[in-house]
Amino acid sequence: MTDKIKTLKTREYEVCGPIGALLLLFLIPGTLFYLLLTCNTEDASMLSVPGPLPPLETLWDSTAVTIVLVWFSLQAVLYVLPLGTVVEGIPLKDNTRLKYKINAFHAMVVSFLLAGLALALGMPLSYVYDHFLQLAVGAGFLGLALSIFMYVKALTALESALAPGGNSGNPIYDFFMGHELNPRIGSFDLKYFCELRPGLIGWCLINLCFLVKEIELRGSASLSMILVCVFQAIYVMDALWNEEAILTTMNIFYEGFGFYLAFGDLCWIPFTYSLQAYFLVSHPQELGTLAAVGILLLNTVGYIIFRGSNSQKNAFRRNPSDPRVAGFETIPTATGKRLLVSGWWGMVRHPNYLGDLIMALAWCLPCGYTHILPYFYVIYFTVHLIHREARDEHQCMKKYGLAWQEYCKRVPYRIFPYIY
Ligand code: NDP
Repeated sequence: MTDKIKTLKTREYEVCGPIGALLLLFLIPGTLFYLLLTCNTEDASMLSVPGPLPPLETLWDSTAVTIVLVWFSLQAVLYVLPLGTVVEGIPLKDNTRLKYKINAFHAMVVSFLLAGLALALGMPLSYVYDHFLQLAVGAGFLGLALSIFMYVKALTALESALAPGGNSGNPIYDFFMGHELNPRIGSFDLKYFCELRPGLIGWCLINLCFLVKEIELRGSASLSMILVCVFQAIYVMDALWNEEAILTTMNIFYEGFGFYLAFGDLCWIPFTYSLQAYFLVSHPQELGTLAAVGILLLNTVGYIIFRGSNSQKNAFRRNPSDPRVAGFETIPTATGKRLLVSGWWGMVRHPNYLGDLIMALAWCLPCGYTHILPYFYVIYFTVHLIHREARDEHQCMKKYGLAWQEYCKRVPYRIFPYIY
């Protein structure tokens, strides 16, 4: 067993290997700052050449950095508080299971109560809009510092604790992909903590601050802003309410915790996913009632597919005789696990991605049709999920072989019915 564990090296590179990883180390933060800088201009046009960078000394703001650190620490305290329940993750390579705290929803409720208190006390929440770039710089450095810490920590970790996707021996590649699978300090799981809390809850609070800024500027919140904030808050609440479901996702059982996830969780998610609300503050849009109802319906359809398919799979993986999935048609595999071929998973091979993408479009539409910039999210997310789907297919083909081929024959489309 030990020898087997020792040979679990990364054999297939993703992101075009170390060169791709090196490029992405610059491209990801570069794209983020390009988006924020462009959004700040009057025409917010992605087609025009970006203006000169603001002076570097204006980007580093000690108050903004302190706010980021206080926010991160507050979430860490809420995570360790004896609130919520504890569950076990899926078995690791050595057949042990880690324990995980389930209390992210509590953390969100407490965070919003604190934000409400700050508002009642007259604290200037619109600071977040006015110093968005500086806050993003602070969060970016935190993500970078955490990934450096994680990589150094992984150098002394047991071979069996390393991530199959980030154990190539190339330091740049492993730093980017994440060298250790589940880095922990005591029982504090750094990857699990960062996945849902500081970034996702932060994203919702950033939206709230933009809504406050809009009211300050125009006396009331626009319908577009309300729709964006409500849709995204529902999405985040859903993720936190179903926190346990994250334990069976690729991010937890396969990917290490490196720059890709640390920067992604702490900086990319809160500062690019809130781009629509950021855009709406400076580029107000008129949204008619009929258009709003249409967008609401679109988001509802997306949510039903997203939640329905994720719940069916989770119920099935936890207990195949669960009454919600017991009557479904399945394909047996050589591993003993079965694959669903009816219900949502009989429509396309990744119905949860389809639902997610429909919602992504509904979040961009309130920003009108004059700019591409607020549509960045749905464009990026489509590329991201198509790439993610291809990675998952590759893993499933390795895991299930002939049974997976049979599933692909029975359910020929990957994400979009009759298209892809
Ligand atoms: P999935 O939850 O889709 O999990 C894929 C796994 O499901 C496969 O590896 C396989 O694992 C199992 N599976 C696949 N087909 C079947 C089937 N027919 N029957 C039973 N099991 C099957 O992957 P993700 O972790 O990528 O996504 C989880 C959710 O998170 C999605 O809704 C996605 O849209 C969302 N997401 C959101 C992101 C964001 O930034 N907002 C980013 C990434 C994801 P096994 O057989 O081993 O159980």
